Amino acid sequence: MNIPYSRQYIDEDDEQAVLDVLRSDYLTTGPKIAEFEKIVADYVGAKYAVAVASGTAALHVSCLAAGIKKGDEVITTPITFAASSNCVLYCDAKVVFADINPITYNIDPTDIRRKITDKTKAIIPVHFTGQPCEMDEIHDIAQEHDLIVLEDAAHALGADYKGRKIGGLSDLTTFSFHPVKHITTGEGGMITTNDKTLYEKLLLLRTHGITKDPSLLKKNEGGWYYEQLELGFNYRITDIQCALGISQMKKIDRFIARRREIAKRYDDAFADLDGVMIPIQLEGCNNSYHLYVVQMEDIVRKDAFNELRTAGIGVNVHYIPVYKHPYYQKNGYQDIYCANAENLYNKMISLPIYPGLTKEEQEYVIEQITRVF
Ligand SMILES: *Cc1c(COP(=O)(O)O)cnc(C)c1O
Repeated sequence: MNIPYSRQYIDEDDEQAVLDVLRSDYLTTGPKIAEFEKIVADYVGAKYAVAVASGTAALHVSCLAAGIKKGDEVITTPITFAASSNCVLYCDAKVVFADINPITYNIDPTDIRRKITDKTKAIIPVHFTGQPCEMDEIHDIAQEHDLIVLEDAAHALGADYKGRKIGGLSDLTTFSFHPVKHITTGEGGMITTNDKTLYEKLLLLRTHGITKDPSLLKKNEGGWYYEQLELGFNYRITDIQCALGISQMKKIDRFIARRREIAKRYDDAFADLDGVMIPIQLEGCNNSYHLYVVQMEDIVRKDAFNELRTAGIGVNVHYIPVYKHPYYQKNGYQDIYCANAENLYNKMISLPIYPGLTKEEQEYVIEQITRVF
């Protein structure tokens, strides 16, 4: 057996969609981009969507559109992929880590409150594993202190918070389409928003800050004319990628149903297993299970990890608290300590979960986990 922790699901329709674009006039900046954006915007219930080259690019342009700059502070969780906080550093701003809630593993609104200063500009909640953060509490805090909320929903395409999909709730929400995520475009990302001004800034930042839109030009010297209004990037996504994304979105409901089915199977199998703690479902929320994370006593975690890897199961640890990385340690974050995050890091292990994981493979994972205990 050789079971990864996650894997893309590509079928013949996906292959055909990509081939069709390769045989068309536009490989990039053609019709597939707007089509993909509309599908994702409609799916998550947002007015606008901007597709970009990666989830990291989505975070970066979102921070810029939100006006985050030198001297600002942005609060996020340490239990995330480094991109959630690197995007703040790209803007020369300071990351402030708020600890997690030990039950949900997500950023703790109480600790967000403690970390607010008069320099705080934004909050970046990360829906870790696909479990929504406590968004009502986070929005209350943001409103009281006039902060931007930028959700990193790289794990949470398809997750519901109190009957609404993640993606239409805050100022800005970002998604990733890396192959381990819910749908893939190879590399790719998207920002969703309901705010027209932010939307227009994102469009500019995606392509060098350059526009031909007559309503935005300072003057107009002729049909060839364009202007650079901001310092933007080439963060464009290709039509090839968007065609794959469109085709993948046709399967999103099935993908998520499969992930939830597998999570339920693991929940049932491990509920009574001593020494293993299964994830807890938040009332009123519906996890879309990018990851399935269990906790075990830290004395057994390392051995369990090694034994499971030897047995061909691609278990993983998501994540090392971001501030513990050498780059952060040598750049001013050496005194940060988030007790709940460190405790979770010492105990957590991610099990394989993806749509193509067969019944037999699930059985094997369950059998091996049970054996290791
Ligand atoms: C995957 C991921 C990202 C980055 O997305 P890329 O598309 O790989 O750039 C950001 N944040 C989190 C939480 C992620 O899991």
